[in-house]
Amino acid sequence: MSETLLDLIAEGVAAGGTAVVADHREVSYVELEELSNQAAHWLRARGVGPESVVGVRLERGLEMVVALVGILKTGAAYLPLDPDYPEDRLRFMIEDSGAELVIEPGDLTGLAQPAYPVNVLVRPENAAYVIYTSGSTGRPKGVVIEHRGIVNRLRWMQDEYGLTPQDRVLQKTPFGFDVSVWEFFWTLSVGATLVMARPGGHRDPAYLAEVMSEGITTAHFVPSMLRAFLAGPVPPLPLRRVLCSGEALPDELAARFHRMVGAELHNLYGPTEASVDVTATRCRPGEPVTIGYPIANTRIHLLDGELTIAGVQLARGYLNRPALTAEKFVPNPFAEQPGERLYRTGDRARQRADGAFEYLGRFDHQVKIHGNRIELGEVEAALHGHPMIAAAAAAVQDDRLVAYCVYREGAPPSTSELRAHLARTLPEPMLPAVWIPLPALPLTPSGKIDRNALPEPDGTRPELAGGYVEPRNATEAAIAGIWAEALGVSPVGVHDPFLELGGRSLAATRICARISRNTGRRLSVADLFTAPTVAELAEVVEAAPPISNVHSGHKAISPAQHRMWFLDQLSGPSSTYTMYEAYRCAGELDVEALRRALAEVVRRHEALRTTFRSRRGEPELVVSAETDVPLTVVDGSAEEIVEAELSRPFDLARGPLLRCAVIRGEPGRFTLLAVLHHIIADDTSMEIFWRDLAECYAGRADALPELTASYPAPDQSGLEYWKSALAGAPPAIELPDSLPRPARQAQLEGTVEFSVPQQVLTALESVATEAGATGFMALLAAFVLDLSRATGRDDLVVGTFAGNRPSVEAEDLIGLFVNTLALRVRVPGDPEYREVLDAVREAVLGGFRHQDVPFDQVVTAVRPPRDLSRNPVAQVAFQSLGSLSDRLRLDGVRAEPWRAGQGGNPFDVLVTVREHPAGLAGTLHYDRALFAEAAAKTMADRFVQVVHTVAVAPGTRGSQLPR
Ligand code: AMP
Repeated sequence: MSETLLDLIAEGVAAGGTAVVADHREVSYVELEELSNQAAHWLRARGVGPESVVGVRLERGLEMVVALVGILKTGAAYLPLDPDYPEDRLRFMIEDSGAELVIEPGDLTGLAQPAYPVNVLVRPENAAYVIYTSGSTGRPKGVVIEHRGIVNRLRWMQDEYGLTPQDRVLQKTPFGFDVSVWEFFWTLSVGATLVMARPGGHRDPAYLAEVMSEGITTAHFVPSMLRAFLAGPVPPLPLRRVLCSGEALPDELAARFHRMVGAELHNLYGPTEASVDVTATRCRPGEPVTIGYPIANTRIHLLDGELTIAGVQLARGYLNRPALTAEKFVPNPFAEQPGERLYRTGDRARQRADGAFEYLGRFDHQVKIHGNRIELGEVEAALHGHPMIAAAAAAVQDDRLVAYCVYREGAPPSTSELRAHLARTLPEPMLPAVWIPLPALPLTPSGKIDRNALPEPDGTRPELAGGYVEPRNATEAAIAGIWAEALGVSPVGVHDPFLELGGRSLAATRICARISRNTGRRLSVADLFTAPTVAELAEVVEAAPPISNVHSGHKAISPAQHRMWFLDQLSGPSSTYTMYEAYRCAGELDVEALRRALAEVVRRHEALRTTFRSRRGEPELVVSAETDVPLTVVDGSAEEIVEAELSRPFDLARGPLLRCAVIRGEPGRFTLLAVLHHIIADDTSMEIFWRDLAECYAGRADALPELTASYPAPDQSGLEYWKSALAGAPPAIELPDSLPRPARQAQLEGTVEFSVPQQVLTALESVATEAGATGFMALLAAFVLDLSRATGRDDLVVGTFAGNRPSVEAEDLIGLFVNTLALRVRVPGDPEYREVLDAVREAVLGGFRHQDVPFDQVVTAVRPPRDLSRNPVAQVAFQSLGSLSDRLRLDGVRAEPWRAGQGGNPFDVLVTVREHPAGLAGTLHYDRALFAEAAAKTMADRFVQVVHTVAVAPGTRGSQLPR
């Protein structure tokens, strides 16, 4: 191979439009080319050329990209110098690498250099970058990668995944890790767009979800960060592929990914010493994770179980460390060409019969903590550098780095002092989270440290420079409690520094989410680092604005509530909007405890104490302090009593808008029923209701998050999206086989149940994953295909519902958040199911990004013809809801979902699917004034048949569906 990174970048420049998006600024390939040429001239003028090393000490941003490309253009190798690293470590790296120059912030701005290319001959065997990794003897080691190695890696990547100029890749990996190399240069080599996460943004899942929803198609995650990311609410994302690497990817995390994200998942493996990655595989739903197969021009040999690598991607070696280089890069006994080397990774692996490699762990004391490669030996060497430490060992326990120290005689140093000592040379991820003093290190008979005998941390507060100070008010006490839980340390004093208690980025992420959730105040991970004690953070929390987008106090009435109230005024109290869930239960019920629990749930949730009275023709929301909710306890036929409860209308002005019943059957058996008016709840609220009820019933009310947030403030910023998406939408859909339409919607609900077996669902999920779509999108696409076939239309508007919870905090609230989305899907020319799926995916992604625009406002804006006989804009709808199976978990009671209703269906036909242990449980809701039961049943059967068909034959076209 005779190429360099510069050849690759030149191809990108020829193909691409926008090269970089950083700090809301877009930079074209032409501009990037000019800026980096100027940087190259500037560097040339300072004597930089092939085989020079140039340090880059910059934050993530445009200037960083310009610096890296500019350095490569001079033929030099770049040396990333993360500004977050300790000064001593950076100085060591600069000196050790012999860097001729270090680019600092501002150096490359407003250069007066020429914008034409510099004239330098760069060869494939020239060094492209130098990345330092932890060294077991106490000194970091610089890995030198040549152009030919990284070019091979990037060419393989493009052959494998085929990025296009339309793709947008997120650059979030700190550039001291080699994953960043492909983020930068794969993107730039194909003319795609590199979107730079803001500095520090890679630690903040909420921020990442936000940037990714803006068109990111490709992103990398270290598995531990993927876990943190998937722990939060994840909106539908336009992602096509997620690449994981850096540490083992557990099966269960991959499965979680497939459930939550509609994108391909790939697992890649490799050390910095072999140009980023050397094996890879696609992870498919239901299959165990492996690290896959060797990539192009790479061979993997297992020598006594150790994974070794041969091929063009091997590094030149470690800078200035010939002995270490010779130890790790050995002559290849299987050489195909003379002089070939083999890199010994120290990883334990085995090969499956199908050739895929499985990662099993390490042979040595190199560890990974949240993706950071750490030699325990380096940490131990730093510990030994402290004058008071006689002996020390480092180990990983529960994902935390633990230091064991034997002190010399005299007053032992405080943890703060030790930490400060280490922080002079070690970056944050290498600092121990837990410090354990020992009288002596446990030794094996041969005199080595007996690592298995090192004690586990017991969670007591470490000795810190400042003494323990108890929380002095409620905010401090709450924050200290959250810290203690997240850090596994107790007690937490109000002046204890976060980092010294062992706090790390991932713990910070969890803590912020909890505090925001419990206090209703928005906190960012950065706040925790600028106010790193409980006392300081308590001040920040108290001064922080309440979570934006959410009104505290619940005084505003939302458009959806307004509509329900208005219809109620028009037609008088009715059961149209009655929601309910009934569970068949077995076990002993403590009725008094249930009554108390119910009162506690009502106390927690303002919505359950709310009524709507009319004042001068407008609804006014009234919140009462009354927590008494009717709980009827009766004996008798569950069928009859449920029917009677459902036919009793709610009085919106008087309330209560929730009532419950326990219907006793045979001994030890009963039915539990909750009936609510939809104006105060939605399906997610039901989940919260049962969860909170069960917690309070079990006497764990204290464990529930305190609630302060309430309804979202109306938002209109996405209205333009809906106006343009729905512009020129065809008139109302008329389904075949319908009865004459009454002049006014009757909304007489009829239902037909259906199911889809698990194996069909799994097959469909595979089709979905293939297309970068979620299971929901795949089902909706089957629905659309069927609908288009049945109506002969190729331009359809289908309703669905979005949870529309505006923040993490709102995830715990009962209330009416759900919003109707009218998705426009065009399927011209009898397309294959797969193409329909693509169209549905686009519509869902666009729609969910603008889910906060109330449907009523969309209707007002698009002004459909006035027609009281049908729902405006969308007449058919499809939704996927959470499983009912484990919603109700009362202590000592086994509960089976029995019946449920969602409170009103304005659509002619609405299909609801829910996950179910045996597959999918579906309900087709129809208006009995419009369809005979037989016609509804045919519709349900046909939908199920289409799902079966497309799950095995995604190439099916509408015209090929059975009639
Ligand atoms: P680094 O040089 O930082 O890329 O770290 C390389 C080491 O990370 C490898 O030697 C492995 O121990 C570990 N590693 C990288 N990728 C994976 C993976 N996909 N699965 C398991 N371990 C991995």
